[in-house]
Amino acid sequence: MRTIHSPSAMTAWSQRLRREGVVIGFVPTMGALHEGHRALIRAARLTCDALVVSIFVNPTQFAPTEDLTTYPRRLSQDRAMCREEGVDVCFEPTPAAMYPKGFQTVVTVPSVARRWEGELRPHHFAGVATVITKLFGVVRPDIVWFGQKDFQQCAVVRQLVKDLNFNIRLVVRPTVRERDGLAMSSRNVFLSTDERRLAPVFYQALLAGQRAAETGVTDPEMVRAMMQNVLGGQPAIRIDYLAICDPDTLEPLNRIDGQAVILGAIRLGSVRLIDNVLTRRKSGGT
Ligand code: AMP
Repeated sequence: MRTIHSPSAMTAWSQRLRREGVVIGFVPTMGALHEGHRALIRAARLTCDALVVSIFVNPTQFAPTEDLTTYPRRLSQDRAMCREEGVDVCFEPTPAAMYPKGFQTVVTVPSVARRWEGELRPHHFAGVATVITKLFGVVRPDIVWFGQKDFQQCAVVRQLVKDLNFNIRLVVRPTVRERDGLAMSSRNVFLSTDERRLAPVFYQALLAGQRAAETGVTDPEMVRAMMQNVLGGQPAIRIDYLAICDPDTLEPLNRIDGQAVILGAIRLGSVRLIDNVLTRRKSGGT
């Protein structure tokens, strides 16, 4: 496995292979890799000829009040996982290489990025969309893999791939969870023992919402109330949002009568968790 730091060296590597007809796969990450990342890397490894994983904690998607400086960094373990999984290139640019002096361009995806995470973290998706656009430009992949765990991020990336004519196939993989249902996340290490014990109730609440929607409850308010009820008994949990939305537009539904996504964000102490489930009922209900 090669480690490449410079964006121009990354592009040169990629272009050389593309000329030979090699299919390049790409998994962008912020490092502190866990089994969720591993699942993406494995899925990618099965499909493409050459595989690039980027490890870049992107400063522009963090607000000044957020956890950029404390975000977990475990580069040597990350490289070991990438090596184990047969990654060809670990791309590790520095912030200065990605955002040199004079950098100006910002990519925004106003509609799908507006609500939910976008509302609570106003600059987040512009940071994400900009860095993803840059990474796509640098790595020049044919296929990219993202996790459903970050559902709204997937919608943002889908939109920018379409709008900016990237000739890239986007693959979204299911959320990998701990045995008790908690979605794996690099930030889970910040949960205290008590918070960690409590955290799976978030997924249980989403499942309760999913069950309600799939067994015929069509009123999103009722579904939300059921989920709040599951979370309600826990004073340590603060709900940022629980939303039942159209999975394409991410607009809230007035009535659940087809596919829906239930998105949520909660805070447990200082740790913010996001998660989501899709409901599979196609139509009908009461
Ligand atoms: P991050 O390092 O958090 O930016 O995540 C990099 C990629 O891994 C994103 O596409 C995430 O959606 C994906 N990812 C993060 N956690 C999980 C998980 N638990 N299961 C599947 N994919 C995940």
